[in-house]
Amino acid sequence: MLTLDDVHAYYGKSHVLEGVTMEVRAGELVALLGRNGAGKTTTLRSIAGITTTTGRITFDNQDLRGREPYEIARRGVALVQEHRGIFGVLTVEENLKIALRKGGRWGLDDVYAMFPRLRERRRNGGRALSGGEQQMLAMARALVNNPRILLLDEPTEGLAPVIVDEIVRILKAIRESGMPVLLVEQNLAVCEALADRHYILEQGRIVYTGSAQAFKADRAVRDRYLALS
Ligand code: ATP
Repeated sequence: MLTLDDVHAYYGKSHVLEGVTMEVRAGELVALLGRNGAGKTTTLRSIAGITTTTGRITFDNQDLRGREPYEIARRGVALVQEHRGIFGVLTVEENLKIALRKGGRWGLDDVYAMFPRLRERRRNGGRALSGGEQQMLAMARALVNNPRILLLDEPTEGLAPVIVDEIVRILKAIRESGMPVLLVEQNLAVCEALADRHYILEQGRIVYTGSAQAFKADRAVRDRYLALS
């Protein structure tokens, strides 16, 4: 349903995406991996219309490329960025209510059931949340907007192992709800626990794609493209 075909992106003169071709099909959780600076964040920002690109990006056969970020969001593409964009002066519940789009699968009660921690902290200010709670709020806020696909940029980065486990549990439930997800993630264990398929990006190009099973079996690929340099 989401396809990128020969997508190029530049920051000034630096050519950051050099022809990215990939897809996320209905109901899939797809992991996009790669070393620091490979272009993973840029790929998500390109889909969301924040970074200017050439090539073709479609969602349900409609062109996204060249549209404004708000138009892309309105078509149901939700990007949860690393700097999570929580409103610190608002409570957890107020942050959720701003994003709420009624009539879809996800309402306040649904996200509170999925994120019990947020229910407990619903009257707390955004500023009082831990990093993990902020990440949960960012994900919950994306969900209550009732998107049709979620793009997640390193949701477990910098979080304690118990919180990472909690995020994995939540992502499993999101996947089971049928929501397609494109997940940028450096934590291999997280990817392996969740993804139906994997792509590896290196220097702005997709250098590997494989099913969860193929990826697990292929140690050489992991050593070659993902080992810390
Ligand atoms: P990381 O895991 O470090 O976030 P990444 O794979 O997400 O890495 P990107 O953030 O997409 O990589 O960055 C790709 C390249 O583009 C890097 O070389 C980075 O330095 C460069 N870059 C990113 N943002 C900008 C910017 N705003 N201006 C100039 N160069 C940028």
